[in-house]
Amino acid sequence: MENKPIARVLKLLSQLMELHEENSFKVKTIATAGFTIDKLPFSIAKKSLQEMEGIRAIGKSVAAKVQELIETGSLKELDELLADTPPGVVEIMTIKGLGPKKVLVIWKSLGIENIGELYYACNENRLIEAKGFGLKTQEEIKKAIEFKMASNGRFLYSQAESFGNILLNDFKKVLTHELISFVGAFRRKVEIIDGLDILVGCALNPTLLDYLHTLDYLKVVETKDNSIEAESPAGIKVYIRFCNPENYYKNLVLQSGSPEHIKELEIRIGSALPDVGSEEELYTLADLPFIEPELREGEFEFKLADQKALPVLIKQTDLKGSLHNHSTWSDGINSLEEMVVYCKEEMHLQYLGICDHSKSAFYAKGLSEERVLAQQTEIDLLNTKYAPFKVFKGIESDILFDGSLDYPVEILSRFDFIVASIHSVFKMSEEKATSRLIKAIENPYTTILGHPTGRLLLSRSGYPVDIKKVIDACAENGVVIEINANPLRLDIDWRWHQYALEKGVMLSINPDAHSINGFRDTHYGVMAARKGGLSAANCLNALSLDEINLFFERKRLITRN
Ligand SMILES: [Zn+2]
Ligand SMILES: [Zn+2]
Repeated sequence: MENKPIARVLKLLSQLMELHEENSFKVKTIATAGFTIDKLPFSIAKKSLQEMEGIRAIGKSVAAKVQELIETGSLKELDELLADTPPGVVEIMTIKGLGPKKVLVIWKSLGIENIGELYYACNENRLIEAKGFGLKTQEEIKKAIEFKMASNGRFLYSQAESFGNILLNDFKKVLTHELISFVGAFRRKVEIIDGLDILVGCALNPTLLDYLHTLDYLKVVETKDNSIEAESPAGIKVYIRFCNPENYYKNLVLQSGSPEHIKELEIRIGSALPDVGSEEELYTLADLPFIEPELREGEFEFKLADQKALPVLIKQTDLKGSLHNHSTWSDGINSLEEMVVYCKEEMHLQYLGICDHSKSAFYAKGLSEERVLAQQTEIDLLNTKYAPFKVFKGIESDILFDGSLDYPVEILSRFDFIVASIHSVFKMSEEKATSRLIKAIENPYTTILGHPTGRLLLSRSGYPVDIKKVIDACAENGVVIEINANPLRLDIDWRWHQYALEKGVMLSINPDAHSINGFRDTHYGVMAARKGGLSAANCLNALSLDEINLFFERKRLITRN
């Protein structure tokens, strides 16, 4: 065994010992020994135990460990510490700038157990107030995680969106025509993309190429006859393809749809796609109504078209209120009143559902019974002050390990509506996770099932769950399913929306806002809902204030009986 791996093991051991708050003198001894071994001009493995003990900064106790490592290939002490540490927490320690002391706060005080949750917490500004952190550290951590994600070449739609829009707008400035569009997964608004595709209806000429070279936020990587490959500073790949104007619309359809969509389209037309004057014309040739780009996945759009049931997809302006939001009462960063004013004045909504965390969410300042009552008094005052705008009294109730909700019935019955979500104990079998969710769904006080799988895109897959059974249970119990609009979540996945709709389940586009800016995430929720084929009629928060009042009232009547 060479010095380097031995030094690495000792470094990890010292970090884990510090993480588990072992004697600081011992921690320092191990760390120093590791550092020393790394710099030795000879191989430590070739030395006898006595010779090792004689080396300064190693000594008796560390020499024994090195010996154990060389002979067995492992260290019992390290294995035990690893067994007591979630693997995700060990991974967090590899992030630049995060030593054991900070990781301990992240793990124990904030309840974060992997990089995905840490990234989510940065986006929710949860690190700012943690001991030893601040806005600057939070930003550094966020950047370091994004760097790690980028090295995998995959991005959230939201990470590429503003860059893509700037690029397209700048590009349009040098074109004398309108034949330019995003194509590919980005145009279909897929939640995770591995690049941006742009189609231009003209030949690639030197003027265009020169212009692209002047853009300081775009690095041209390769130029071919009819295409350019470039890259954003964050590492997002950009593919720009050029075609003759007369082939533009054919290529627009060809390059926008998924392979499955294109294959079916060709079958219906009975040949390869011909040149046309518009996208609509192509769909007419296939005897189909126009299919929105978001739906061109080959999943369910043809079936719906055949049934003459293609939905009018929901739009941002269809949303009349925002349910599931947090304020400073729990882990939000804006006061309840600031949230109300923003919703009313800036988002032009009719109502706000406030759902701070329930008491089990200790890391998020979850509300005790007394604080629930105090918050409800404030809500009454706000409802008088800002009428006819209405604040609904909600809670995001933790679903406990056994599937029960977090308060006794006396408290549960005081809310207008309840979002039930899982926030802890993610390691469960599919059977356990499913029955835990179903028990919460069957609770008569549950109105909405929050982020049903707990996934964090690109970083945490969420607990394994039988989604079909969960949707069936929601249908049976009249429970609405959330489309969590946070671009990291977009949970429930759009691929399940049609099944939910078939079963008569309503969906709700919830920003889960932890600040006034968080309301803007509804944009991504609408995007996911459109991919799933949701129309305003099946969206809970597209109901007007009068309608949703009635909806909650009806649910309450059922609960009481
Ligand atoms: Zn939640
Ligand atoms: Zn929430």
